[in-house]
Amino acid sequence: MESTTAAPNVLTDDEVMLRDTIRRFAEERVLPGELERDHACRFHAELVAELAEMGFLGIPVPEQYGGAGMSTMCYALTVEEIAKVSGSLALTLAAHTSLGTMPIVDFGTEEQKREFVPDLASGKHLGSFALTEPQAGSDSGATKTSATRDGDHYVLSGQKSWITNAGYAGSFVVTARTSAGKGSDGISAFLVRRGVPGFAIGEPEKKLGLHSSDSRPIFFDGCRVPAAQRLGPEGEGFKYFMKTLDRGRIVIGAMALGLAEGALACALKYAKERKTFGKEIAAHQAIAFKLADMATQIEAARLLIHQAARKKDAGLPFARDAAMAKLFASEMAMRVTSDAIQIHGGYGYTREYHVERMFRDAKLCTIGEGTSEIQRLVISRSLVQEGLGY
Ligand SMILES: Cc1cc2nc3c(=O)[nH]c(=O)nc-3n(C[C@H](O)[C@H](O)[C@H](O)COP(=O)(O)OP(=O)(O)OC[C@H]3O[C@@H](n4cnc5c(N)ncnc54)[C@H](O)[C@@H]3O)c2cc1C
Repeated sequence: MESTTAAPNVLTDDEVMLRDTIRRFAEERVLPGELERDHACRFHAELVAELAEMGFLGIPVPEQYGGAGMSTMCYALTVEEIAKVSGSLALTLAAHTSLGTMPIVDFGTEEQKREFVPDLASGKHLGSFALTEPQAGSDSGATKTSATRDGDHYVLSGQKSWITNAGYAGSFVVTARTSAGKGSDGISAFLVRRGVPGFAIGEPEKKLGLHSSDSRPIFFDGCRVPAAQRLGPEGEGFKYFMKTLDRGRIVIGAMALGLAEGALACALKYAKERKTFGKEIAAHQAIAFKLADMATQIEAARLLIHQAARKKDAGLPFARDAAMAKLFASEMAMRVTSDAIQIHGGYGYTREYHVERMFRDAKLCTIGEGTSEIQRLVISRSLVQEGLGY
């Protein structure tokens, strides 16, 4: 696959084949029940099992650990196609892969990789990433959950919030403070299995959108975790999750892109069907121009996402590109889904049309894996410290 030499917006034959496969799955298997699942706030366990069967739960995981060994570009294309019809399933897959699996692949010992990764890549169970706490979201250096060394174990105590997939995950990458008073250098990362004593999983959050995605608080109360399940040296946890989020941001950008594309497709179809004042509303220039602006913004987001993914796959620095891609794509998705509702008029404001769900789902993309404000911090710091780069 010539993924590192292709222009950002040109897909290789293999990428097109992958995209078409996942697009078929999304349209035939995911779309038909999406509104019903969303309204019932029902987790899509059967679709996750189908994704696992198709080998899509370990897209960027190396083949030696049971994954597909594919590029970040392929992973982003997959999430985009799923998000066109289901933001919830896209987030389930993104959190499982970027956050619950890849930190083990990137930073784990050979033993940890062999023990944890194959079950995640095969979809035997989902993975979760537990960083956020009630008082530490953007300011994750303020992590309070503690991990105290006791012989060949650590004892974890504290609470984490908003943990995607927590109700269905078999393993969790958890950040906890191993040294007081050292700020972000006192934070380490641990691999924790579901069901160990002292580890409890709370009730699902009642959310604005992404109703079929699972988000819960988790609790540690004297939970003993073997020291062999610490990810990397003590004090490296903060750096690890910063790197983890860089890759994750490309894919949350792809999720926002997919939601916007889904909304534009719905709006275009509706604009050609709905008639007012004797003609299709697409023939009113105000609506036609709105459609043009939506499509143009979508293409700009696609280029940013593809550029960040291509750079990552080529081994080039990509953190600023990933932040720009996520920032632009997620804010674009809010504008485009809002315009899609506008084009549907009053019908768009009802739960009978997908655009209402897409609008609610898109909002998360401006918050999760670093808010828009945090992306602007990342981008502006990079500009000041490293210059324009061109
Ligand atoms: C559906 C969903 C799924 C999630 N999944 C996970 C998960 O799987 N794992 C996980 O660990 N977390 C997860 N999160 C948590 C998410 O990452 C945090 O909500 C996010 O990082 C923001 O943190 P916060 O909610 O504490 O907001 P705060 O950090 O309290 O921010 C509040 C506001 O202040 C702004 N702000 C904060 N600091 C600054 C600053 N320095 N400069 C300018 N503005 C600032 C923010 O941008 C925001 O607008 C999830 C959240 C949601 C809603």
